Amino acid sequence: MTDPHRTPKLGGNAGRVSQYLEIRGLTVDFGGFTANRDVDLTLFQGDLRFLIGPNGAGKTTLIDAVTGLVPATGSVTKSGIELLGKKSHHIARAGVGRTFQTPSVFEQLTVLQNLDIACGAARPLRSRLRARHGVPAIVEQALETIGLTAVRDQLTGTLPHGRKKWLEIGMLLVQNADVLLLDEPVAGMSHEERELTGELLRNLGGERTVLVVEHDMDFMRTYATSVTVMARGGVLAQGSVAEVQADPRVQEVYLGTAAEVPQC
Ligand code: ADP
Ligand code: MG
Repeated sequence: MTDPHRTPKLGGNAGRVSQYLEIRGLTVDFGGFTANRDVDLTLFQGDLRFLIGPNGAGKTTLIDAVTGLVPATGSVTKSGIELLGKKSHHIARAGVGRTFQTPSVFEQLTVLQNLDIACGAARPLRSRLRARHGVPAIVEQALETIGLTAVRDQLTGTLPHGRKKWLEIGMLLVQNADVLLLDEPVAGMSHEERELTGELLRNLGGERTVLVVEHDMDFMRTYATSVTVMARGGVLAQGSVAEVQADPRVQEVYLGTAAEVPQC
C-alpha cells in the first residue's frame, strides 16, 4: 500500500521535502494484547498532523512507543536515525518531545523556573553546573511563542489550565524539540483558549513538525494540515481532512457520524 504522506502535501509542507519522523511497522504488545499493530506513519517538516480515533485506539500508546516509554518493535527514524530501542532521554535529545494528557509542570515554581529547568535538561552536565546569568535567548523566545512573557514570574500553580498546557509546549521548545507529539493539548480548555492554542500550534509548524491527538472535529478542520485515523491499534486512514471524513471506514468507526465529536 502506498503511503500518501510520502508525497509532501500542500498546506503544511508545501515546498519542503525533508522527512522528519518515519514510523514503520510499529507494534506494541502488552502481554498478548496488541495496542499498536503494524503502524506506518510519516511526518514531514511543517506538518500539523492530527491523530484521531476512538477511545482505546492506541493513540497514546503510539506516542509512548515513539518516545521510548513502552517497548515496541518496528522502526522509528528521525531524519534517518533509528530511535526505537533508545532510552527516552536520548530520544528527547534527538529533538522528539511530547506532552501528556494531564499537564506535568512544577506548580510550586514560576513559569520562568519551569522553562529554565527544561532548558537545563537539554544542556550537558558541565554547562548545567556553571552559574546562569540572565534569561537565555531560547527561553525568552519560547515565552514569546507561548504567550506567557507577562506572567513569567508567576507561580505556575496559579495559572489557568490552558496556560499550563502552553507552558508544557514551551518546555519542549527550550529543549530544541522539532518533533512535537501533543496528547490532547486542548482537552479541558475554554473556547477562547482552544483558538489561541490552535494559532500557537500553527506557529509551531514551519521548521518543526507537530502531531496532535484531538477529538474536536471543528478544531481539527480548522487547523489540521493532514489527518491520521487510528482504530483498534492500527492506521485506518490517512490524508486531508476532507479525504478522511469522506472515507466510509472512518464514518463507520464513528457510527456513521464522522462530523460528530467522538468521545476520548
Ligand atoms: P487511546 O489513547 O487511543 O485512547 P491508548 O493508547 O491509551 O488509547 O490505549 C490503547 C489500548 O491499550 C487500550 O485498550 C488500553 O487499555 C491498552 N493499554 C494501554 N496501556 C496499557 C498497558 N500499560 N498495559 C496494558 N494495556 C494497556
Ligand atoms: Mg489517549
